[in-house]
Amino acid sequence: MNSQTPRTRSVMKFGGSSLASPTLRRRVVELAAAEHRLGPVALVLSALGGTTDHLLAALRAAAAGEPVDSHLFAVHALVAAEDVPATARAALATLLGELRGLLQGVRLLGEASPAATDAVVSFGERLSIEVIAAQLEARGHTALRLDSRTWCRTDDRHGDARVDEAHSYGTLAEMSATWPAEAIVVCTGYLGRTATGRTTTLGRNGSDYTATLLGRGLGAREVQIWSDVPGVMTANPRLVHEARLLERLSYEEALELAMFGAKVLHPRTLVPLLGSGVPLRIRDTNHPDHPGTFVDAHGADDEERATSVTSLVDQALLDIQLAVTSEGVQLGERVHRVLETHSTSVRLATHSAHGQAISVVVPCEDLPAIQAALEEALVYELGRGTVRPIEVKQPVSLLTLVGEAMGRTPNVAGRMFSALGEVGINVLAIGQSASARSISCAVDQALLRLAVRTVHDAMHLDQRRASLFLLGHGVVGSQLTAQLESQAPVLAAEHQLQLDLVGLATRTRHVFDPAGIVATKAVARLEPGGLDAGHLQTLSRLPNPVLIDCTAADGMELLYREALALGIHVVAANKKPLTVPQAERDALLAAARKAHRVYRYETTVGAALPVVTTLHDLLRTGDVVHAIEGSLSGTLGYLCSEVMAGVAIGDAVRQARQRGYTEPQPQEDLAGVDVARKSLILARELGLQLDLADVVVTPFVPAELLAETDLDAFFAALDAYAPTLQQQVRELEARGERLRYLATLRIDDAGAQLTVGPTAVGPRHPAYSLQGSQAFVAFTTRRYPTTPLVVLGAGAGGEVTASGVLADVLRVVGL
Ligand code: ADP
Ligand code: ASP
Ligand code: MG
Repeated sequence: MNSQTPRTRSVMKFGGSSLASPTLRRRVVELAAAEHRLGPVALVLSALGGTTDHLLAALRAAAAGEPVDSHLFAVHALVAAEDVPATARAALATLLGELRGLLQGVRLLGEASPAATDAVVSFGERLSIEVIAAQLEARGHTALRLDSRTWCRTDDRHGDARVDEAHSYGTLAEMSATWPAEAIVVCTGYLGRTATGRTTTLGRNGSDYTATLLGRGLGAREVQIWSDVPGVMTANPRLVHEARLLERLSYEEALELAMFGAKVLHPRTLVPLLGSGVPLRIRDTNHPDHPGTFVDAHGADDEERATSVTSLVDQALLDIQLAVTSEGVQLGERVHRVLETHSTSVRLATHSAHGQAISVVVPCEDLPAIQAALEEALVYELGRGTVRPIEVKQPVSLLTLVGEAMGRTPNVAGRMFSALGEVGINVLAIGQSASARSISCAVDQALLRLAVRTVHDAMHLDQRRASLFLLGHGVVGSQLTAQLESQAPVLAAEHQLQLDLVGLATRTRHVFDPAGIVATKAVARLEPGGLDAGHLQTLSRLPNPVLIDCTAADGMELLYREALALGIHVVAANKKPLTVPQAERDALLAAARKAHRVYRYETTVGAALPVVTTLHDLLRTGDVVHAIEGSLSGTLGYLCSEVMAGVAIGDAVRQARQRGYTEPQPQEDLAGVDVARKSLILARELGLQLDLADVVVTPFVPAELLAETDLDAFFAALDAYAPTLQQQVRELEARGERLRYLATLRIDDAGAQLTVGPTAVGPRHPAYSLQGSQAFVAFTTRRYPTTPLVVLGAGAGGEVTASGVLADVLRVVGL
């Protein structure tokens, strides 16, 4: 290439994430070299991944008088990586020495001014260009180091400086005239300088902005921003797994996306390019062969235009309201004047029709100044009480839906807000941009992840979907995978519901695949290692995530609470989390309510029989429960039938265990603990404050037999006890009665009593005709005083229990 080559350079910006490892840096150098073969190139570089944060931490430490060594060590380590050429050493050492001196100064002063902060963080980008320039030189290229402070003129708003574009472009034109076309320009991102020579920065992610400024100033062929994502997506892929790549965007769409928080672009990135004709591409350093996102004046064709969801965190919502009696007072003008002065901070402002109320969203950090200015402007009205004291809520997040097609597509806002409403998210303020290209709303920051995912799903998913993570693959879990497999096509065809099994974990093994797992093949894909927090995080980014617990494990309530807090629904067949001490059980249910998530557990009592649901319906419709009686254990019901039919108890238990009717340790069933747990679950649904110890339990067989933990010895003891039990049963039969194992809850003025034990029932009792593992629950209530409401049917077994779990899952997704 010679100096006759047209000087239309392309500008390639590499973010910190693209410079974070030797492998990535090698890639960066290769990409620059490849582009250079097509024509002149200028690189704009961020600090090597993580440097800016290390520098800020060092600065805070210095200002607090603490040692800065550990933070500086991290920076030293970054620039001493194996790929950094020895030729860079002298320049790096000089910069590091200067940095150390500056930090010592901060330490002596005991504070870091905004100007000192900018000076310190500037070293990140300055070190970075030395590293890459030396690498280019090591490969035989000519590198021209360019400190952006030499051309990027800014005001003195340290940390978020405004650029004097005209001045900067003028300087660039002069400077670039002397650049040899064969030199690869390596420019710092993020940094500028005031007219008086002070270092400034353009705000976090500012290198994106530097790149477009440079591109506009040079009249570049193209500006490329290389990052760690496929391009600009329909949502932050870290929040929404299903986010899709936007292949084309108009400048205006990209501008709005960046302004409203798509972190992949600094908010002002697009400003220099508007009307410039210089296109922008966002590309993935990890996949250089992918085309990424292309931004120009035209954008996507209409039918391909998608909407994206972005968000800004740490905002404050101010509500300014007239007192009811203050007719005639107008808020508008004065408030407006204040907002105009602070216009760069105001993210959203909404007015009620008659100027009675105004809501404003501003970054938390700007709140004190803006609130003070508003209060000053309204000092008279506030003093007289015609305007109510300004109400502030923070932190809130601003969620924005952006899309060129928005103004032209009906019911976009309707879909957005009804979806938020469905998951219980309260919208605090709503605004539409003047361009009609975006709609924003403020939501409680704690609910942001859920809000983003919900709105994204509502806009992008044609089908209702749920993402299921199953814990446990015993009798119930394995039946559930079989049912998922066979029901999935029916649910998809008839109910437009796609159920994706994305994970399965046993105690020691797991498989997790957000793309979905063929349910019946899940077991074959199990790998060592159980469920971990990372799985829950990823699960929470999938559409309608549901954690399904088909284990009988202890302590799962902690996991549920973690899941609920992340916005994951819980469906459980596991009784134990509901029978922990009352306060913990209440806290679990409260956690679900707080997260607006559903925790369903119908199968904890009577397998798939609608016991919990029926009780809820009775209570919700105002009935009063006087008594609940039930045969709640399919296992003990089955044993009663067998023993009555003359089978020895030991053999009956062996059979039940084989059929999967018992807990892994059948002693638990015979002890009545399982029934006690179920009755406690029901009692607590009534609001009764009871613990497991309050249940009066008589075991099915004498307690001393149950003390035997060894299974063989236990069965031997049962065999020895069999004749005694047979004798008792014959005596019952002689009286026309049958043996059942019942739980009874009675509530009267004296309080509640919960008893569990073997009971003889006569022909008029609803339990008399039970067969095998059938269960029943009878509710005696104010509306059902003499003939109780009875739920009766199969009360145990993997297949029915799994069907109950599946039914709970379907209810969770609103089917
Ligand atoms: P770099 O170091 O390259 O400047 P950043 O971390 O500043 O990278 O920006 C890239 C990140 O932006 C992505 O990893 C992603 O998490 C986030 N991001 C937020 N919103 C979007 C979006 N709509 N599309 C793509 N990425 C997004
Ligand atoms: N290094 C700066 C930051 O971390 C600027 C940038 O990366 O664009 O924010
Ligand atoms: Mg960035």
